[in-house]
Amino acid sequence: MTELQSITILGSTGSIGTNTLDVLARHPGRFRIHALTASTRVDALLEQCVRFRPRFAVMSSPPHASALRDRVRALALPVEVLSGDEALCEVSASTEVDIVMAAIVGAAGLAPSLAAASAGKKLLLANKEALVVGGQLFMDAVRTGGATLLPIDSEHSAIFQCLPEHPSHWPDRLDHILLTSSGGPFRDTPLADLAAMTPAQACAHPNFVMGRKISVDSATMMNKALEVIEARWLFDLPGSQIKVLIHPQQIIHSMVQFKDTSVLAQLGTPDMRVPIAYGLSWPERMDSGAQPLDFGTLASLTFREPERARYPGLYLSWEVLDAPQGTTAVLNAANEVAVAAFLAEGLRFDRIHAVNHATLAALVPSKPANLQDLLAIDREARSVAQTQVRRLAA
Ligand code: NAD
Ligand code: MG
Repeated sequence: MTELQSITILGSTGSIGTNTLDVLARHPGRFRIHALTASTRVDALLEQCVRFRPRFAVMSSPPHASALRDRVRALALPVEVLSGDEALCEVSASTEVDIVMAAIVGAAGLAPSLAAASAGKKLLLANKEALVVGGQLFMDAVRTGGATLLPIDSEHSAIFQCLPEHPSHWPDRLDHILLTSSGGPFRDTPLADLAAMTPAQACAHPNFVMGRKISVDSATMMNKALEVIEARWLFDLPGSQIKVLIHPQQIIHSMVQFKDTSVLAQLGTPDMRVPIAYGLSWPERMDSGAQPLDFGTLASLTFREPERARYPGLYLSWEVLDAPQGTTAVLNAANEVAVAAFLAEGLRFDRIHAVNHATLAALVPSKPANLQDLLAIDREARSVAQTQVRRLAA
């Protein structure tokens, strides 16, 4: 166990990426960084190269990669700069890598995550959209590649920690799982005011600082819809055994109810370094840097059901799980387009759901057989969703 493990972090400049580096820095001598990757933030990736000395730094955008290469040379850093989507797959599948942290946001992370799965890596999955788009094909790649898939999403990490160690015991013992949600920043906003909510308001999450896309998804609860689909694949459960509960304090990170009605929950302060550290050290435990819970000062824990009128997008998750394969990829693509339009102030907050709903109605995908098929569904759904954005734009 003391052998140095080599890790690639996909999306190292994001919220999950920087939290991962924070955890790794607490364990010198245990991990070695093979590659760090980012999309366009040259300064941020350069700073990480100076501090963490990866063998490779990858920027998916070639012009940004060449800017980074110049600056790495000027500082004489021993880091090789690569560019493009293929390089992301290379640093994920390389025989020199043991662990891949998948922390790119959106379907853009699908190809490198699949490459890591097929190459049999220990795959720490934060990039839920990759699994929502990939579905059965993603899980097949994990199985045939011999990968170890570990959830980083805090809810799925919580459930994973509450379940019996061996997956063969899950179906016999489990009744259902309960995914908890903060309810987002608009959980108490009058329904009539939702239409006027701005990107800045949507990104002011009550308990976490996160990327902008997942922040908007938390406000609509589309994040929880994606997590229902993610749980379906991670734990091989039908939608009917996946429930969602609002728990504003985010102390309980999710729960499992067993056949005898007994419920197990995982608790802790809301800090993504906990599920990240658990993924890195599993099945052992190691320091995460998080503050422990102080039960003496803990306020009450409350729960409520998610209202359909406030969070219509949440309920799409169970619908798409019953629809033909590939429909989850359509929903994900529509949502990425709608959220980007909202963040660019080109779509009203309450119309994100309208775009998603209309795109699902307009497109029935044919069954995907491989990555190319998934990417084709993703492209087609994006184009339909763009049309819906134009139609629905204020
Ligand atoms: P973020 O926006 O902070 O970071 C995204 C990272 O992906 C950045 O490093 C960026 O450079 C990279 N990236 C973006 N677009 C890319 C593209 N087209 N090609 C290659 N790289 C690209 O996002 P985040 O909040 O860290 O979230 C990352 C993933 O983790 C998401 O799927 C999110 O749902 C999931 N997640 C995040 C949290 C959280 O607390 N932030 C919690 C649970 C799950
Ligand atoms: Mg989550």
